[in-house]
Amino acid sequence: MKRDEFERLKYVISTHYHADHSGGNEKMLARSVEIISTANSRKNILEHKQSNAPPNVVPARITFTEETSVFIGGKEVRARYFGRGHTNGDAIIYFPADRTIHTGDLMAGTSPLIDYNGGGSIIEWTKTLDAAMERLNFDTVIPGHGNVTNKAGLTTYRNNIEKLRNRVTGLIHEGKKEDEIAKVMTAEYGWQPNSLQQQWSVPGFMTELK
Ligand SMILES: [Zn+2]
Repeated sequence: MKRDEFERLKYVISTHYHADHSGGNEKMLARSVEIISTANSRKNILEHKQSNAPPNVVPARITFTEETSVFIGGKEVRARYFGRGHTNGDAIIYFPADRTIHTGDLMAGTSPLIDYNGGGSIIEWTKTLDAAMERLNFDTVIPGHGNVTNKAGLTTYRNNIEKLRNRVTGLIHEGKKEDEIAKVMTAEYGWQPNSLQQQWSVPGFMTELK
């Protein structure tokens, strides 16, 4: 970012606590740019809930639990917590004038990462997206990782989470063990053996989906 762009920057709304989204907080705060996040994102940073995060991630100084807005240049930017999913503190950012949302990692890549240590839930995830799609008027969707898409793209992503959840629930009910489920996730969903999805999400499935 250029120097004059930094000087115009006043606020950063952080979608969640993971270091690839909050790791720049320290540099922003050093330049008097205020960070805003959910209260749970702040708590998760302070409690070091991300096992592979660097030690110096700095939390937001302004937090909210349900909803907050920033009004600048005649436009509103609204941040809302609709419930658990990727973590227990994912904010969806809404730009009403542009009919656009930023989902954070509630949409990211092709397959969900459930951070159970950070309060995530694959049961709540689809309810959270349903609530957002019901209450916000938008066409454009900016995911946490991946290409900009639209409401249909987000709906497909949501439905794939439901399918994945049903598949894993079925396997658990058949009596499959964690290592067997891990193999199915690699074969059918491309979850590589040492991926965060295998490390963070599969053990959590055994408890949440039993
Ligand atoms: Zn994340």
